[in-house]
Amino acid sequence: CGIVAYIGKKKARPILIEGLKRLEYRGYDSAGVALIEKNAISIVKSKGRIAVLEDLIKEKTDTATVGIGHTRWATHGEPNTVNAHPHSDFTGKISLVHNGIIENYSTLKQWLIKEGVAFKSQTDTEVLANLIGYFYAKPSENDSNHSFEKAVQRALDMVVGTYGLAIICDDCPDTIIAAKKGSPLILGVGQNEYIIASDASAIVEHTQQAVYLSDNEMAVVNNSGFYTKTIDDINITKEVKDIEFSL
Ligand code: GLU
Repeated sequence: CGIVAYIGKKKARPILIEGLKRLEYRGYDSAGVALIEKNAISIVKSKGRIAVLEDLIKEKTDTATVGIGHTRWATHGEPNTVNAHPHSDFTGKISLVHNGIIENYSTLKQWLIKEGVAFKSQTDTEVLANLIGYFYAKPSENDSNHSFEKAVQRALDMVVGTYGLAIICDDCPDTIIAAKKGSPLILGVGQNEYIIASDASAIVEHTQQAVYLSDNEMAVVNNSGFYTKTIDDINITKEVKDIEFSL
């Protein structure tokens, strides 16, 4: 339902919690955050209000400057803590938040199970996390330099449905990949910081500048810049625009 992700020089946790609160008005049944620090991803998620999440997360690291957050409105799998986002893949290296519906999740899930992949949740989203993790664990020869990016592309190429995504990988602690198809996703461009969100309301207190991703596009974002390409790997240049939104 709602996505907010941050990469920059500030502490990510309060920015993500504040961003999720901005998205609360859209409705949700659960919420969660993944923070990445020193090549380790820690996830906190919970059924219910952001305030519950905020209490739980107080126990966790507060120095991470990269993270992703989500408010979920369940479509596949009941609203509970296991089904809440972020979801990690079976290797634990990849974590993501997802808005939308993976229509062919059942076929993909059966295939991954045959390949020996174990699932924890009932969601369509975990299928996508595991699919990316599967390709990341088994890169093909021409994936060498950008295997995180390639794994995302190869997974999204197999997916039928809609997605707004923010994805992190513990081998690349300074990178967030955002991707969009049929679900809104905006890359807020600040001063040495970026806020990715499904809704401008979670961006405008940080920056008035943004890149509006179109369907079948992705952005690879690190704290010194970003580049954009299509899911099938054609480089594209996107205009940075003024956000037309006021709180
Ligand atoms: N289909 C996903 C789920 O049920 C995402 C729902 C959403 O957009 O919040 O977990």
